[in-house]
Amino acid sequence: MGHRTKYVFITGGVVSSLGKGIIAASLGKLLQARGLRVTIQKFDPYINIDPGTLNPYEHGECFVTDDGAETDLDLGHYERFLGVPTSQANNVTTGRIYYTVITREREGAYLGKTVQIVPHITDEIKRRMLRLGQSGDYDIVITEVGGTVGDMESQPFIEAVRQLQWEQPEGDCMCIHLTLVPYLSAAKEIKTKPTQHSVQMLQHAGVMPDVIVCRTEHPLGEDLRRKIALFCNVKPGHVIESQDAWSIYQVPLNMHAEHLDELVVRKLGIENFNAPDLGRWKDFLDRLQNPKKTVDIALVGKYVALQDAYKSIQESFVHAGAACGCKVKVHSLLSDDITADNVAAKLEGMDGVLVAPGFGERGLEGKIHAIHYTREKGIPFLGICLGMQMCVVEYARNVLGWADASSTELNPNTTHPVIDLMEEQKKTTAKGGTMRLGAYACRLKPGTLAHKIYGTADIRERHRHRYEFNEKYADDFAQGGLVASGTNPDTGLVEVVELPNHPFFVGVQFHPEYKSTPERPHPLFVAFVKAALK
Ligand code: GLN
Repeated sequence: MGHRTKYVFITGGVVSSLGKGIIAASLGKLLQARGLRVTIQKFDPYINIDPGTLNPYEHGECFVTDDGAETDLDLGHYERFLGVPTSQANNVTTGRIYYTVITREREGAYLGKTVQIVPHITDEIKRRMLRLGQSGDYDIVITEVGGTVGDMESQPFIEAVRQLQWEQPEGDCMCIHLTLVPYLSAAKEIKTKPTQHSVQMLQHAGVMPDVIVCRTEHPLGEDLRRKIALFCNVKPGHVIESQDAWSIYQVPLNMHAEHLDELVVRKLGIENFNAPDLGRWKDFLDRLQNPKKTVDIALVGKYVALQDAYKSIQESFVHAGAACGCKVKVHSLLSDDITADNVAAKLEGMDGVLVAPGFGERGLEGKIHAIHYTREKGIPFLGICLGMQMCVVEYARNVLGWADASSTELNPNTTHPVIDLMEEQKKTTAKGGTMRLGAYACRLKPGTLAHKIYGTADIRERHRHRYEFNEKYADDFAQGGLVASGTNPDTGLVEVVELPNHPFFVGVQFHPEYKSTPERPHPLFVAFVKAALK
């Protein structure tokens, strides 16, 4: 495009969970559809170095990038909307910033100076905020600032945004503030005061928002928009509404109807008069909105009480459903509650069963009961990571006849450790960032179901685990009928297993869900949904 990289900052006010990630992703999608090169990054104000060590109940799913970063689930939205991979550089936490600064201090890099939040922490934040932009690969870098304006923890980030706006050439940066405009049903009134206060807080910190996006359940109307614009000191027309949408994938279209992308290119002085080309996106939405059938899929896991815990899996079903012209109804089943006696009742009416990834011992026996049932009844089954490991354990116990076969994660003293810690993991004690992480190659055996599904022998998928199929037992499984249909070409590690005499029984050590997008639904999910439809 020949112009400098421009920066859009997105802050949030009033409450958390307003969907800043979806607004960031939607804006990114619109700008990309105008032919601009866009990336989105997220700055999170917590002290953990990354969310890899967080319980999913704390922070939802941990998303994994190709280069092995364990990241916030919003990066999943960025990838699903833009269809381009993110990396380590796209997610930065307060912990990471402090870690860098403190490490440098120990190295003596500050030459005897007192190390302070301003300038040292804010300098490190700014360095990272500009980093992707300096690669020359992007016309626009969108930065989502996590947390809520006014929180103690997000202050250094807001200060860094203020400094950047001041330092960067005029017109290269802009700020979009997302707020809640609540409706009081008793008074039958839409209230703007929380928005005014949150914008004042931002202004007090020296950041003037250029656009205010109002999350609202009801239309705002011209008067309220003008009122918010006046009190918040933004131009009329720069207050836009984001009403609750029927699908997150509808939000880019809603934002376009509100002229968000137009306001941004104009504000940043980008000469771009293209209307966004959203043809394929609209096709997807059209299929999503008009399903012809329904399939019922059980999602068996231990974090089912929180929807966000399996975000990418849920979204992969949305993509695959649209691709197959059906609505996938995902029924979350708590694995802890499944026993040999109730499994038939629990899985009644299910067209397919997905056993989810996870960690630790809780709920594993329930997963094994679910797999046993689906295997014997010929119900389509997809096991992901821990789900694949448990289907290997189930097969060892109930077909190969090794009653105490297990994963050493579940039983360290088993006489048949069919799933075991990888060698290098045995020496590792630190928990953060030490799993087998990121994309690895996998070769699929010709003639297998996996090969047919992918339509190619060489694939790359993302991993996040410590345990592994124990190759010591490879021959026993092969003779017993469980086929290792995908292996790592460099190490021989078994990555995919399947059962030939079953309508659909596939276990994968990797996480296909991280790579599914509306425009490129993942073949494994599509094949699984198709099998469930039969
Ligand atoms: N707990 C298992 C392991 O560490 C599986 C991990 C997962 O499902 N992501 O190998």
